[in-house]
Amino acid sequence: MLYTGFDFYNCDMHFSDKQKVLRQEVREFVDIEVLPKINPYWETAEFPWEIARNMVDLPIIGGILFDHGAAGLDFVEMGLVMYELGKGDGSISTFYGVHSGLAMGSIGLLGDEDQKARWLPDMVKLEKIGAFGLTEPDVGSNAAQVKTWARNDGNGVILNGAKRWIGNASIADVLIIWARDEDSGDFGGYVIEDPQQTEGVTITDIWGKVGKRAVLNADITLDNVFVPAENRLAYVNRFRDMAQVLGVGRYGVAWEAAGVAAGAFELALKYTKAREQFGKPIAGFQLIQQKLVEMCTEVTLMQTLCLQLSHLISQGLLTEGTVSMAKYNNARKARYVTQLARECLGGNGIVIDNHIARLMLDAEIIYTYEGTNEVNLLLVGRELTGLNAFV
Ligand SMILES: Cc1cc2nc3c(=O)[nH]c(=O)nc-3n(C[C@H](O)[C@H](O)[C@H](O)COP(=O)(O)OP(=O)(O)OC[C@H]3O[C@@H](n4cnc5c(N)ncnc54)[C@H](O)[C@@H]3O)c2cc1C
Repeated sequence: MLYTGFDFYNCDMHFSDKQKVLRQEVREFVDIEVLPKINPYWETAEFPWEIARNMVDLPIIGGILFDHGAAGLDFVEMGLVMYELGKGDGSISTFYGVHSGLAMGSIGLLGDEDQKARWLPDMVKLEKIGAFGLTEPDVGSNAAQVKTWARNDGNGVILNGAKRWIGNASIADVLIIWARDEDSGDFGGYVIEDPQQTEGVTITDIWGKVGKRAVLNADITLDNVFVPAENRLAYVNRFRDMAQVLGVGRYGVAWEAAGVAAGAFELALKYTKAREQFGKPIAGFQLIQQKLVEMCTEVTLMQTLCLQLSHLISQGLLTEGTVSMAKYNNARKARYVTQLARECLGGNGIVIDNHIARLMLDAEIIYTYEGTNEVNLLLVGRELTGLNAFV
């Protein structure tokens, strides 16, 4: 049976028929393609191509971009897609968020017409996969200070440095590396095509992750890698130029976190109504109801926060602080809700067959990426006070 989606405050009343139809398509994809197939991939930490490839049939690739066959979603639709994918599985939502949001988004928002025409059409068809390389082994939260350097070399640049945690990197055909210019200090995005075959690029998958195990993250070293001048994204010179991509990404992650929490809550509600102990359904015990109400309340708060955030972003009113507050709140609460949900299943909550343990561990990653909890808190604090507490 397809899931219908828990909506205690009737947020549905704010969505158009078109938005609901898209959401239903993604729900069916999750129900038919993701949930029955994902657990073995998660357990063996393999990337589920058989699931990911089929995403091309949904009208979602390219997210909010309009040109070159991209989906042209409105911001509510983009949020609903991240919510539904997150509800199903965090590895799939991350694959989509990195490829469609961070990588295609960087090209679509920061590339010129030639660059968009070169890369986006194949990326929309998932014939080329994108990755976004910002974080480094020694530079995480302080991302504006990357230590990967670009040295001018005639008709291009030579890149030297290292990246860490880069999602999709080992399957990427279009790898965006963020680096600073050795002479000017300018910040730039450099597209490495076919990185596995590019001299000087070494990509090594990171093993032993305890969350989002079915999406691949890699360490990358760049040793005198030549990138032609036409592969430097045209409209980025400062970190701030790129930050608009991160802002939209953070918006998507706030919805993703709400989806992960809602998925865990729905499973816990269903389970506790069916599971009997002491002669009655455990949902009838006050202590279980306390957990259910706590989860329902947090999920509802996340949903309503996302809804208002979607109005802010749609009207161009999103600020660094407003989007960071949603990411801060939802990632933290997703961690809490998934843990409560896991508790409600007792021992059965420990095995991934019931999906909850997977969602709980995926929430740990959401808590850390797209700005850690502390970084997002400090961004809100800076907007509130005008004072920078980062350093
Ligand atoms: C599974 C996964 C996928 C990822 N995918 C990508 C990707 O595709 N591309 C990419 O570029 N990156 C990616 N990342 C990287 C992610 O964005 C970073 O892990 C994150 O920004 C934190 O950096 P760090 O891990 O180096 O932690 P650090 O920056 O070293 O932080 C460690 C701790 O110190 C805290 N801290 C740091 N500075 C301060 C401060 N000023 N005040 C208070 N506390 C502070 C942090 O909040 C954190 O708790 C991914 C990470 C993971 C785990």
